[in-house]
Amino acid sequence: MTAVIIVGAGPAGMAAALTLVEAGLRPIVVDEAQRAGGQIFRRPPPGFTRPPAALYGADAAAATRLHLAFDALGDRIDYRPQTLVWAVEPDAVHLQGPQGRVRLDRGPLLLATGATDRLLPVDGWTKPGVFSLGGSQVALKAQGVAIGRRVAFCGTGPLLYLVAYQYAKAGAEVAAVLDTSAFGDGIRALPLLAADPAKLARGIYYLGWLRAHGVPVHHGVRPLTVHGESVTGLTWRDAGRRLNETRCDALALGFGLRSETQLADLAGVPFRFDPIRRQYLPDIDQDGRAPAGAVYLAGDGAAVRGAAAAETAGRLAALALAADLGRPVDTAARDALRGRMARFERFARGLDAAFPFPVDLLDTATDDTLLCRCEAVTVGTMRHAVGELGAEDVNRAKAFVRPGMGRCQGRMCGLATSELHARLRGLPPDQAGRLRGQAPVKPVPLA
Ligand SMILES: Cc1cc2nc3c(=O)[nH]c(=O)nc-3n(C[C@H](O)[C@H](O)[C@H](O)COP(=O)(O)OP(=O)(O)OC[C@H]3O[C@@H](n4cnc5c(N)ncnc54)[C@H](O)[C@@H]3O)c2cc1C
Repeated sequence: MTAVIIVGAGPAGMAAALTLVEAGLRPIVVDEAQRAGGQIFRRPPPGFTRPPAALYGADAAAATRLHLAFDALGDRIDYRPQTLVWAVEPDAVHLQGPQGRVRLDRGPLLLATGATDRLLPVDGWTKPGVFSLGGSQVALKAQGVAIGRRVAFCGTGPLLYLVAYQYAKAGAEVAAVLDTSAFGDGIRALPLLAADPAKLARGIYYLGWLRAHGVPVHHGVRPLTVHGESVTGLTWRDAGRRLNETRCDALALGFGLRSETQLADLAGVPFRFDPIRRQYLPDIDQDGRAPAGAVYLAGDGAAVRGAAAAETAGRLAALALAADLGRPVDTAARDALRGRMARFERFARGLDAAFPFPVDLLDTATDDTLLCRCEAVTVGTMRHAVGELGAEDVNRAKAFVRPGMGRCQGRMCGLATSELHARLRGLPPDQAGRLRGQAPVKPVPLA
């Protein structure tokens, strides 16, 4: 039998590998990172000595448990770190890593590719000193460095408070936390957030801690302009529409997360629009099984629900895969996992309600604001593509003026481009369509 291939060694991929090994299989596990762990449980390079409690805070026990269990798999899996899956074809999966270019026969495929920051264009967002929120956390978690001496955090989502807290705890000066969501959004979301009281309590703790330590926290903010050649400050409007400026030498910007779905697209998985997450997502069953083609999805790459949900989903998808291969499956354990997923989904919906995507920023963006940084496409160019050129969907706009055509393949600008397209036409976001995935999903050497 052709080997099972797991893409991603975050909580979802690691849990899937553990489950498949328990079912008597030896999967290939491919991850482009140097060490297994994924985003939340990202490990620093060998030789770095920050202890798990400093790196992962309240998640330290979960991180250590998964790291140890995964490392103990040894050669019961074929683990390929620092290896990118850059293309999926009907009969092959293409890798680029320390062994160079490798073609694997395509067996059952379990995609656990996680998420990345969700970005919106703000005037000056590509200047030196502006980082995505997740990127600012990666710098701290993986390398033990801060992105600046005096850092402002702007955007929305639970990561905004978590990363600001982590920076402050690590000794950086946090200039401000500027949340685009209104305080009332969080209050209204409480009934849904109560699905996970421990996580809710943690979020409230981060907010309280930042305030208690004198960090200015503002809600209902609209960021306007990043100043300086390299960042010197950010102007923003407060909830009362008053102009403010926060001075800083680095800015972390992020508006939630987006699922990393290109490989699912290349693998032929159908997509459906999720109106709450405002993204086209792989159309899978409750266990993560795609309708055809022996493809399974788990974790944030299927829908953003957080680390504990990713681990549960990884187990569920692996059980589905094992069952489809005719292996015996403990159905009671599977049903328990399904029950947990329902609770995670409720909490995730609460987060989406507490931290709504501030899509109105696109209406006030100036024509000169960069939308697609790889191809230097501005908001004004996109307005022209829709208005004068009549691009009827986002792929047509891509053909006309190239947003999403560059190195990142729309991974950074794609959702903002779709949202802008829909707003310019006065339609709901699903009507813009979605940028289709293309190989290579990330840059690979020409050779
Ligand atoms: C930058 C960032 C920071 C985050 N920090 C936190 C946090 O501190 N706390 C928290 O609760 N949640 C955090 N989250 C959310 C968190 O990522 C998840 O909920 C959880 O890690 C999801 O697990 P996962 O296994 O689905 O994906 P991930 O943990 O994201 O793992 C996905 C893995 O897939 C690999 N991968 C993706 N595409 C490819 C490819 N083409 N080829 C090879 N490998 C590939 C990646 O290298 C990665 O290791 C963060 C998210 C992001 C994006």
